[in-house]
Amino acid sequence: MSNSSVQFASGEFVPLEMHKVRVVQKLNLLPVEERVKSIEGAGCNTFLLQNKDVFLDMLTDSGTNAMSDQQVAAMSVADDAYAGSASYEKLYNTIVDILGTEYFLPVHQGRAAEHIISQAFVTKDGVVPMNFHFTTTKAHIEYAGGSIDELFTDEALKIKSNHPFKGNMDIDKLKAKIATVGKENVPYVRMEAGTNLIGGQPFSIANMREVREVCDTNDLLIVLDISLIAENIYFIKTREEEFKDADIKTIIRAMCDLADVIYFSGRKVSCTRGGGIATKSKEHYLRMRDMVPLFEGFLTYGGMSVREIEAMAVGLQEILDMNMISQSPQFIKYLVDDLDAAGIPVVTPAGGLGAHLDAKQFLPHVPQLEYSAGALAVALYIISGIRGMERGTISMDRDADGNDVASEVELLRLAMPRRVFTLSQVKYVADRVKWLYKNRDLVGGLEFYDEPKVLRFFVGRLKPNSDWTEKLVAKFREDFPEGL
Ligand SMILES: *Cc1c(COP(=O)(O)O)cnc(C)c1O
Repeated sequence: MSNSSVQFASGEFVPLEMHKVRVVQKLNLLPVEERVKSIEGAGCNTFLLQNKDVFLDMLTDSGTNAMSDQQVAAMSVADDAYAGSASYEKLYNTIVDILGTEYFLPVHQGRAAEHIISQAFVTKDGVVPMNFHFTTTKAHIEYAGGSIDELFTDEALKIKSNHPFKGNMDIDKLKAKIATVGKENVPYVRMEAGTNLIGGQPFSIANMREVREVCDTNDLLIVLDISLIAENIYFIKTREEEFKDADIKTIIRAMCDLADVIYFSGRKVSCTRGGGIATKSKEHYLRMRDMVPLFEGFLTYGGMSVREIEAMAVGLQEILDMNMISQSPQFIKYLVDDLDAAGIPVVTPAGGLGAHLDAKQFLPHVPQLEYSAGALAVALYIISGIRGMERGTISMDRDADGNDVASEVELLRLAMPRRVFTLSQVKYVADRVKWLYKNRDLVGGLEFYDEPKVLRFFVGRLKPNSDWTEKLVAKFREDFPEGL
């Protein structure tokens, strides 16, 4: 137990905010009658809501984390220079110190790193095995002519589980895959820390050591995505016996030493923007280097502003603080455990990215092809002003024959940006989800009236397939005659 969770006299363990609020942003909580208008006006798509109409924005943790006072202070001393900026020097030294690599390439965000790595290493028809994909990763590998293969364990997609490392790679599947496609057709093996799309679930160092062994036997590289490393490290420290007394840097090094090329999105790990690629190998560095000035910017800024670079250097230092990296996972655990205890279908164990509600069980009467996770996102926004993200059938596009494809998992994700929400706000989330669960029979489905062919979840527009939203508003008013 980290010291940012204290035991109350009642016996309960409560996560504490180990920071205080010094700059605030005003929030609006519109009345329910206004909320139903704004979500229907937004095509029942939470991506199309105006932020001013949102009370708690739990869409994503990307670029929405709170900076520390130290980060903001560093931005004001940034050294503006096209080449050779002292700010870059600070970032470079931080990378070397924390990740233990010798070479660094700055880029404008995570997907830019994926672009460069894919162009440098992915061969035509090459197959990249990975523990789990991320949307932009898959897109860039395919853009470079390759494909991906996810080799997660059977535990990964289970809604109810108590497995400590749902992000592990299945080692037998990895060996079998290399044997079938041939190692010459495997450009590299990719490990993603804190697997984003399955909710920030971690892998263990023990698992990565096994991946390394298989790669060594077959002369293969490991590319490590550390966008969500902070939470993965927290879980290793709290769940992997060997590391329970280790300091954070030792665990980061243990992970990074097993990789050949490391990259990250600063939008997550450093609470800034930007990103970067790090490696110990001069050969790999040179293979990628010339693409930075071509696609990103000069080698000492890579498309980032120097202010962002200063804040990134400080943000990366801050992940060495257990109080900092335990905040999100502990708040998420508080929410997930509370919902789980109330019998609400939520993915367990709690991960490092957010709480994920299982729409198949939450709304069993709404067929997947009526977009139950999308409907759940709409219903939750109407009754609370909370903005989540559909991760289900709407997020899949139609197949080549134009058929809608039911997603394997049908989830509503409620992301927990780092250091942003207070515990009373988290309690509000739990309370409103419980109210909705009690009244779930009122929720119906959705249908498209404006459906883009590609990535339809971003800007597609839907409408309720009956008058269910009106009924939901009426019931809310009955239960909360005066409330918002
Ligand atoms: C967000 C993310 C990316 C892409 O980063 P961007 O900065 O959004 O381009 C890549 N990998 C993982 C694991 C991520 O979470």
